[in-house]
Amino acid sequence: MRTMARRMRRRASFPLPLRMTDSDRQPDPAAPALHLIPRDVHGVSRKQMSRNALKVLYHLRESGFSAYLVGGAVRDLLIGRMPKDFDVATDATPEQVKSIFRNCRLIGRRFRLAHVVFGREIIEVATFRANGGDDDGEEGREVLESGRLVRDNVYGSIEEDAIRRDFTANALYYSIADFSVHDYVGGFADVQARTLRLIGEPEARYREDPVRMLRASRLAAKLGFTVEAATAEPIPRLAPLLKDSSPARLFEETMKLFLAGHAVASFEHLERFGLLSVLLPDTAQALASNKSGALRKMLLQGLRNTDARLAAGEPVSPAFLFAVLLWPAYCHALAQLQAQGVHAAEAQRRAADRVTLRQVTRTALPRRFSLPMQEIWLLQPRFALRQRKRVHRMLSHPRFRAAFDFLELRLAASNAHANDVAFWRQAQKDPEAASATEAQSGRCAPKASSSPDRSDASAPGAPSDGDS
Ligand code: ATP
Ligand code: MG
Repeated sequence: MRTMARRMRRRASFPLPLRMTDSDRQPDPAAPALHLIPRDVHGVSRKQMSRNALKVLYHLRESGFSAYLVGGAVRDLLIGRMPKDFDVATDATPEQVKSIFRNCRLIGRRFRLAHVVFGREIIEVATFRANGGDDDGEEGREVLESGRLVRDNVYGSIEEDAIRRDFTANALYYSIADFSVHDYVGGFADVQARTLRLIGEPEARYREDPVRMLRASRLAAKLGFTVEAATAEPIPRLAPLLKDSSPARLFEETMKLFLAGHAVASFEHLERFGLLSVLLPDTAQALASNKSGALRKMLLQGLRNTDARLAAGEPVSPAFLFAVLLWPAYCHALAQLQAQGVHAAEAQRRAADRVTLRQVTRTALPRRFSLPMQEIWLLQPRFALRQRKRVHRMLSHPRFRAAFDFLELRLAASNAHANDVAFWRQAQKDPEAASATEAQSGRCAPKASSSPDRSDASAPGAPSDGDS
């Protein structure tokens, strides 16, 4: 920290940080000890790093600042994974970073950051931050009575920056000065042991930011790490705190949980930690009351398919994902409305709206995703309608493909739609032949809204797929 103060003086041409903490001025006896892992002991190589990240690191260093690769990138490189993004930590303030890079913009209020933009790649540069417990309510940092951290812009030393991070594995710093890894919290050993451990006192850290509970589930799923006992213990107890987190942030986290190639593992961790009932409350409730387990089977198959598509480099859509995640809730709501005697088509619309409206209060699902999600659901009964005109209209529906994939997925829960799946598979290959066969067979297609009281899962609009 003294070094940092000295450097600050040397760089008198740059404006000083917004606010320096006491620890910048005095040595802190409680500062965590540095464990330095030299280059020949760790496997993090510059060859594996983004060239743009390296440019940023070098340029910061040449400008007189310290610069480290930090967070997920170091962790991932240590275990031989390709990082998703490359984040940089520095003692330069965001304004100083902006003055060094022409291609830089400053973002964020809750957490002010510099983005250095290289075409489609953005290197995020964060100034070391302090997490001083006794400066609550001061200008740069705002903590609510509940312990929640809502603003965190107090700059500090690298040691302070390390201990305000979430997990030890995420608090490793790769130095561009000598290519060593700096570890203040035992993260290196934890990465070796594939352990996810919160830094500090777990309950306080979750209260400060309940989203860390989701991050524990997500990182355990993504990395195959074990959540260490003291880190795991408070989660089921504190899960309800997530209700107060911003729905926009929870939506983003949900996307990262389920659209990053480890959806099944994420789901299992969320369930195990009691987080599913907070993130997707109606689905969790519907799954609990679905005795046959058919809805769960279908949901898991949907997540398995999502993971497989990502592994094969195929596109995945948030609308389809949410159609899968909320299908149990939709089936449940539909069954309830139909039990109340609501006409099938009306019940479908109302169930779709009810489920969507309730879910957006938890995860802010944008309309560009919720509308196609609802279409996928509402098209399901139309697969039972096979008159020539309807077949053609259905095949040219912009949401046909997604709705058909969804119908196929429902086979995981029940065989009731096997005929429909076979028919529409054929119809896509040869629409004329498919509709002609139907016309000849004289099959009378049921109307989408004609059977509110049929209870078999194949009935259009019926409480589907073994929801009981
Ligand atoms: P991923 O590989 O999925 O990007 P990540 O660990 O890099 O995982 P990011 O969201 O990119 O996750 O965050 C970058 C770093 O910022 C983390 O490694 C961690 O050090 C820190 N961080 C992120 N979120 C929090 C949080 N809620 N509380 C404390 N530190 C956090
Ligand atoms: Mg990251």
